[in-house]
Amino acid sequence: MSEKKVSRGYFSSTIGCYCPRCRDGKLFQHKTTISFKKNMLMNKHCPVCGQASEIEVGFYYGTSYVSYALALGICVASLALWYFTIGLSTNDNRFFIWLGCNAVLLVVLQPWLMRVSRSLWISWFVKYDPDWKQHQPEDVSERMNSDQANNW
Ligand SMILES: [Zn+2]
Repeated sequence: MSEKKVSRGYFSSTIGCYCPRCRDGKLFQHKTTISFKKNMLMNKHCPVCGQASEIEVGFYYGTSYVSYALALGICVASLALWYFTIGLSTNDNRFFIWLGCNAVLLVVLQPWLMRVSRSLWISWFVKYDPDWKQHQPEDVSERMNSDQANNW
């Protein structure tokens, strides 16, 4: 029997939105899309190892801070790129053109940013387990409250 070995590292599994436990199952049900509802629809459990994607009520509340930090990083990177390629001056509107381009860039990247924020967030709470087949995922059912799900 040939077994597929997943050799995804932390970085590629997080950026690719894979389950942090097995690094093989997808966290989201659909590919990145501009439809907000479809874009953020997650698998309740990892289709490969069974890891719950929401491990407590309001688990993804903190991703707004992650998303903010990522967006800030993108702004700094795009400003640096703009400065070294096009340049900045107080005598023309190049700074304001960058501001507009950067705003468009952030809007275009938003669906992806929101997903990567969740992927990063869960990767800090669920550890990679190379022998996930031998262990059961942590039971989080007592931490969940279906009445409070989607209240965030
Ligand atoms: Zn998994």
